[in-house]
Amino acid sequence: MQIISKLEELSYIIKNYKSQGKKIGFVPTMGYLHQGHLKLVEEAKKKSDIVVVSIFINPAQFNDPEDLKKYPLDIEGDIKKCEAEGVDLVFLPTVEEIYPEGIPNIIIKIPHLMGGLCGKSRPGHFEGVLLVLGKLFHAVQPDLLFMGKKDYQQFKIVSYFIQHLGFPIQLYGIDTVREEDGLAMSSRNARLNNKEREAALLIHRTLSIAEKVWMEGERNPKVLKEILMDILASDPLIQVDYLEFVDLETLQEVDNLNNPFLIAIAVFCGKVRLIDNKEIGTSLNKN
Ligand code: AMP
Repeated sequence: MQIISKLEELSYIIKNYKSQGKKIGFVPTMGYLHQGHLKLVEEAKKKSDIVVVSIFINPAQFNDPEDLKKYPLDIEGDIKKCEAEGVDLVFLPTVEEIYPEGIPNIIIKIPHLMGGLCGKSRPGHFEGVLLVLGKLFHAVQPDLLFMGKKDYQQFKIVSYFIQHLGFPIQLYGIDTVREEDGLAMSSRNARLNNKEREAALLIHRTLSIAEKVWMEGERNPKVLKEILMDILASDPLIQVDYLEFVDLETLQEVDNLNNPFLIAIAVFCGKVRLIDNKEIGTSLNKN
């Protein structure tokens, strides 16, 4: 496994792979890798000739400096995990390598997809994500890109970005990997203390109850939201940032629950911001 930190060197290696007709699968991450990330790698291994994982805590996508400062880091552990998963190349740049003249003043907005949910709560976040992806796409030149649907809004935004700017990249959305008790895996879970970890279980419980109540026939978003907010309010360690029912494609809030939709939740668990979501009604359509 190659570990590369310079863009120029990366481009050189990628060019070489490309000249041999190899398909590059790319998994961009911010490190502190867990089974969720490794599931993306596993899928990338199945579909690509060469798997590239980037590990870069992108300052451009943090609207809260405290969050950036506290973001967990374990480069050695990450490298071991990548090696064990059969990753071909880890790209591990410094901030100076990616932004040699500081973060450039380029703002890519997709207003209809970025206006709500995390885009509203974390102004500038998705603009920062697209900025770094633009830069990484140039260097990695992926044929295939693997992203998690835990970050559903990000997945949809990146999908739109790729499609409409004409990047020749096929995007795969990977289902959320969870701990045994249902908590969505996240690098941020490492920052939870025992009580917060216990409280965080309410997020998954809320999503499961939402599905159950919907299956029993509840179609009024106001009524369902009240039920779910009560569940989240049952632990004082949880502060709800948002709980919304949105269209699976447009991400706009829905006014009835007759068609498949997404429940998206963001909470502060203590000081740690956690997100999760669930597609409701989609499995019925598939059957
Ligand atoms: P991050 O390191 O948090 O930026 O995440 C890197 C990639 O891993 C993103 O595409 C995430 O959506 C994905 N990811 C993070 N957590 C999970 C999870 N629990 N299950 C599946 N994918 C995930």
